[in-house]
Amino acid sequence: MHCIKHLKDLLSLIGGQHLRYQILKNMNRLLNKTNLTWIFDLDNTLYPDECNLFAQIDERMGRFVAQLLDVDPIKARRIQKDYYHRYGTTLNGLMAEHVLDPHYYLEFVHDIDHSILPKLPELREAIHQLEGAKYIFTNGSRKHAELVAEKLGILDEFNDVFDIVDAQFIPKPKATAYDIFVRRHGVNPPDAIMFEDLHINLQVPYMLGMSTVLVKTSSMDHPGKRDQQAWTKKPDHVHFETKNLTEFLTSFISQKSSFINVQNS
Ligand SMILES: [Mg+2]
Repeated sequence: MHCIKHLKDLLSLIGGQHLRYQILKNMNRLLNKTNLTWIFDLDNTLYPDECNLFAQIDERMGRFVAQLLDVDPIKARRIQKDYYHRYGTTLNGLMAEHVLDPHYYLEFVHDIDHSILPKLPELREAIHQLEGAKYIFTNGSRKHAELVAEKLGILDEFNDVFDIVDAQFIPKPKATAYDIFVRRHGVNPPDAIMFEDLHINLQVPYMLGMSTVLVKTSSMDHPGKRDQQAWTKKPDHVHFETKNLTEFLTSFISQKSSFINVQNS
């Protein structure tokens, strides 16, 4: 009975009126697993998007493009967004069309003010209680991920960070990035669960057999978020949606313990 109650709590978090069989099935599949691998995107997934950290990175990218190509800020912005749309990231566009040191680029664009990030002790506690390996998988740099996670107070909860250098500069959502990650860490995709604020980055994990959680944000920092807002029904590659990562994890943990108790009684 406990299990049912917690499941209802969880369903209310992920959209009560959409209580449906599919979500129950997905959750039961997860509860049955004993050793999950937990994979978290970094920006706007592990911290609230109100921090607007990406706006600072975005501004630094524009400045980098302006300096590299010796153009004014307006033209730099246009080129930056054009590369982003055509190549997946600004960096990929720059690497394809110009000569530059990608490591210097990463250092430059992530040189931002992290002081606006809060400590998140409840998130830390929730991650701490998850059983299994835990990773941060980001299109940014390792240094950025470590600085952010350190500031949030959660860095030492993770086994490792997988960054854009580890992915050989191939960004999510490209399948190769996930392949490299899975091979590097020996992840069995059906035993893994991935958290992302961008639904397109969940398409490949879904195809690989992972469970997927979309962490919904209010910001519109990516065109992919516009279709997220317009959904009347979530797509198949999103198993769960939540507006609050900590609540989702906490609810999962309490459900899991109820599930184990029910099984043992
Ligand atoms: Mg993100």
